[in-house]
Amino acid sequence: MPVNTNNPNKKTWLAVAENSDFPIQNIPFGVFLTRDDIVTIGTRIGDYAIDLGALHQLGYFQGIPLTEDIFLQDSLNDFISDGKKTWRAVRNRISEIFDSENLALQNNEEHKKVVLFSIDEIEMQLPVQIGDYTDFYSSREHATNVGTMFRDPENALMPNWLHIPVGYHGRSSTIIPSGTAIRRPSGQTLPKGAEKPVFGPSRLVDFELEMAFITTDANVLGEPIPIEQAEDYIFGMVLFNDWSARDIQKWEYVPLGPFLAKNFASSISPWIVTIDALEPFRVDSPLQDPKPFPYLLQTGKHSFDIHLEVAIQPENDEPTTITKSNFKYMYWTMAQQLAHHTINGCVVNSGDMMGSGTISGPTPDSYGSMLELSWQGTKPVPLNNGQTRKFIEDNDTVILTGYCENNGMHIGFGEVTTKLLPAFQFEK
Ligand code: MN
Repeated sequence: MPVNTNNPNKKTWLAVAENSDFPIQNIPFGVFLTRDDIVTIGTRIGDYAIDLGALHQLGYFQGIPLTEDIFLQDSLNDFISDGKKTWRAVRNRISEIFDSENLALQNNEEHKKVVLFSIDEIEMQLPVQIGDYTDFYSSREHATNVGTMFRDPENALMPNWLHIPVGYHGRSSTIIPSGTAIRRPSGQTLPKGAEKPVFGPSRLVDFELEMAFITTDANVLGEPIPIEQAEDYIFGMVLFNDWSARDIQKWEYVPLGPFLAKNFASSISPWIVTIDALEPFRVDSPLQDPKPFPYLLQTGKHSFDIHLEVAIQPENDEPTTITKSNFKYMYWTMAQQLAHHTINGCVVNSGDMMGSGTISGPTPDSYGSMLELSWQGTKPVPLNNGQTRKFIEDNDTVILTGYCENNGMHIGFGEVTTKLLPAFQFEK
C-alpha cells in the first residue's frame, strides 16, 4: 500500500497555523483524556485533537480490517501490533477524511461535535504501555566528550564503540509524559577528594537530549530481526529527555552501568510521529569506519534530518535556548540498533521503547547535555535573564523541541516539558 499522506500540497479543511508541527502530512498517534474524562486513541491536526475511537464508531474506517475497540483503549500497543500495513491504511484514511476536497465529515456538524477537540481541553497520556526500555549511546560526539572528560582524551572512545551500538537496559516504570513534574533525586555520591560517600540530594541533575523509537512485535525467542527489515518494525518516534544525576552516576556505575542515576525519570513527547511521516526527511548517516559486521551493514539513507533544541525556563521567567542539535548526527541508525539488539535472539514486543542516547553535534553549541555544554561545570551556560547554569536548578523547566523541514514542508514533534521540583524531604 502506497503512502498517500506526504504530498506537500495537500490541504485540510481544518484551520492549521502556518508552521504548525502538525499539518495534515504529519498524522501522529497519541492517547488522551477527552473533556468528558474518557480515554481514547487519537491523532492531531493543527490544534485539533481527533478522537479515532469516535471516528471508527461512526464508520469512517470501513474497509480497513480493525477490531471494534481498537481505538477505545488506553494505549496504542494493540494497534501497533496490527503492523505497518494497518498503520499506513489508517493514516491514508485520516488524510482523506480531513482533505479539503472531502465533504463527508466537513459538512456533518453532529459528527464533528464528537470527533474534534481543541488541544487545550484534552489531557495527553503516555501513548504506549512500555514493556521494556533500552537506552543506546550512539552519538559519537557525545561518547567522545564523555570519554574525554572522565577517562582519557587520547582514547576517548572505548575499543568496542565503533563496532557495537552500545546500550543498556533501563526501566520503563518511570517513563512519563510531557508536563509531569519530577523531583530532584537523592542518593549516594562521592565528593571530590573524599574517601567515603555522602547521602543527600543530587547536585548535578542533567537532561539528556535524545529521541526514542517505539517498536511493534518483531520476532520470536531466538530469532534476530534482519537489518533490512528492521525499519518495518519501528512504529514511530518521540522526543526523549533521559534525566540523569551525574554525581550519583559517577559513584554507582562501576561495574554494571547506570542504575539510580537514570531511573528516577525519563520524559517523552506524547505524540508518536510515524516513520512514514518522516520519509521526506531521510538523510545519510555518518560514514562508518571500520565497516560494521554484515548483520549491521546497510545501504541507502537510514537517518532523518530532525532539528532538535533544548531550552531552560527558570520559574516565572522566559525560556533560553541553550543548544541546537540534529538527529542526523547519530553514528548508529535505529535499524542498526534494533538489528543488534536482537542478533542474540532477544525478543522485542509491541510498545517497547529504545532511546537513541544523548544526541550531541560537532560544535559546543550543539551538545546534548549540561555535562557537555558546561564542560563538567567549568563553563557556566548563560541564560537570557542574566543568570547562568552549570546543571539544572530547582524549579527550572526543561523544554525539548524537534522538527523536520524541507521544500516548504514542516513536520514536528511538539515538545517535552518537565519541571524539576526540589528534592523529597527526609525526616530528620
Ligand atoms: Mn540516556
